[in-house]
Amino acid sequence: MRYCARCGSEYQDSVVDCTDCPNHPPLVSAEVMRERKLPLPHELDQHRFVRAGVADDPVTAQIFVDVLDEQRIPLIVRPGRSGVVDELTTGNLLPWWEILVPDTDQARAAVLLEEVKIQGLATADEAGRAAEEEEREGELGHPPADSAPPVF
Ligand SMILES: [Zn+2]
Repeated sequence: MRYCARCGSEYQDSVVDCTDCPNHPPLVSAEVMRERKLPLPHELDQHRFVRAGVADDPVTAQIFVDVLDEQRIPLIVRPGRSGVVDELTTGNLLPWWEILVPDTDQARAAVLLEEVKIQGLATADEAGRAAEEEEREGELGHPPADSAPPVF
């Protein structure tokens, strides 16, 4: 059997890359999965790997992967397509990706992903505030002179 190191899917030996994942990553052997401390499909069922976070889009999923990779936390990205898809729901079904990590790393990984999310929101907030301030400056003519840097 061959395995996808990204989503953990199992394939016949004749298959060379994962058809489920973006960019179709090459499949690896069970030994390589072991070396990378990644779970084989039957191990996923034993709840050794648990959910650390959920990404609503491929960009966020990739950011989560990068962050956990940096911390050397083994992870699996599982495309979320559970549930019944019928003609009525197909149109507004949003894609999402479940980030799974070993249960021993779950707490740490969840905190990391939460931080990434907050940073993302803060960046969006700042962009919004900067735009607002520009508008105010335009109206008043002067930026606030005594704006102190935020204290943490
Ligand atoms: Zn895959």
